[in-house]
Amino acid sequence: MIRALLFLIVLLWPFATTAQEFSGLARLDVAQSQVRDAEDGLDVTLYLSQPVPFRVFTLDDPRRLVMDFREVDWRGASRAGLLNADNATDLRFGAFRPGWSRLVIDLAGPTLIETAGMEVDETDGTAVVRVRLSRADPDRFAAAAGAPPDPDWDIHATDRPSLVAPPDGGDDDLVVVIDPGHGGIDPGAVRGGIKEADIILQFSIELEEALARAGGIRPVLTRRADIFVPLEERMTIARAAGADVLLSLHADALDEEVTRGASVYTLTGEASDGASARMAERHDRGDLLSGLDLSGQDDTVATVLMDLARLETGPQSLRLADQVVTALDDAGVAMNSRPRRTAPLAVLTAPDFASVLIEIGFLSNPQDREVIGSPAGRARIIGGIVQGVQRWDAERRARAPLLRQ
Ligand SMILES: [Zn+2]
Repeated sequence: MIRALLFLIVLLWPFATTAQEFSGLARLDVAQSQVRDAEDGLDVTLYLSQPVPFRVFTLDDPRRLVMDFREVDWRGASRAGLLNADNATDLRFGAFRPGWSRLVIDLAGPTLIETAGMEVDETDGTAVVRVRLSRADPDRFAAAAGAPPDPDWDIHATDRPSLVAPPDGGDDDLVVVIDPGHGGIDPGAVRGGIKEADIILQFSIELEEALARAGGIRPVLTRRADIFVPLEERMTIARAAGADVLLSLHADALDEEVTRGASVYTLTGEASDGASARMAERHDRGDLLSGLDLSGQDDTVATVLMDLARLETGPQSLRLADQVVTALDDAGVAMNSRPRRTAPLAVLTAPDFASVLIEIGFLSNPQDREVIGSPAGRARIIGGIVQGVQRWDAERRARAPLLRQ
């Protein structure tokens, strides 16, 4: 009850009083903002250059504190600079959806929100958000956990339709959905000053241009900005676009530097090896780490979807993966020692279109990093992917009359 009241207050009043200021982003004052232990819990204090609507709630399994804000500029902020507590184990922050930012704090134990509020300094117009959490027993924590139902904040509610052109009835074009991995609060790998979410978005936009130039192909992106898109929504966007193909793109990092080269993943129930298993684990945790409430999700549904995917589009995905690997190799792209891999990746479970995940290289490898970071290096990889998709489509169209008999 107290929580609900606080949301109302913080959400409503800034709109009324400072609407004109919303054109600019609220900047986080990095020097003053802190997450630190309180006597019996945790204190979160964030100084902002102006007041913004915000809300705060907790999630269970794993225990997290989630704070949503009207967009905040996090420049200069770091995990190490903000986090100074034993009662919190980790935190991350960034863009969550268009116009909104999120901070997620992993809690060491069951701590409940006791108070939350924002104070505005009337002389300089700055604001401070204070959230105090105190220890509770696990049952009370579990009972209080969950995102408050609020259509305005519902990630599925708004913002996306403009991304996707409606499927064109008699259109014979191949619809290729390009899915740039990570984004926003989930940056992916970061090595040598390159962030996976950024470089993969750049790569995806270049791939979109190349596919559009190739003719007979309508490319669609699942995100065009440094924004967080949940896994399931990536597939929803693809479906809405009438996808024939989903290409999920990544450039991950490993602990060691030597592993390099491109590889292509298809869906399986079990990972083919340790590296593939770790890859799947890292990526399917993205939603969780970004503060999505997954407690209502039904594993049976996921299993059924996986079976369907294998039955209907599995063989098509396998052929696509093979064609892309061959074409990348033909284009002279450095390939991984095991370029064809399988893993239980949630983003590949759509039953109604072929899906592959392309690891264009590793940000942890200096040579790959140089290739991925240069326009010429990216162009070579893009050429290979376009070739692979075209060969796969030609083969598919050639097979279609046979299948109909
Ligand atoms: Zn990745």
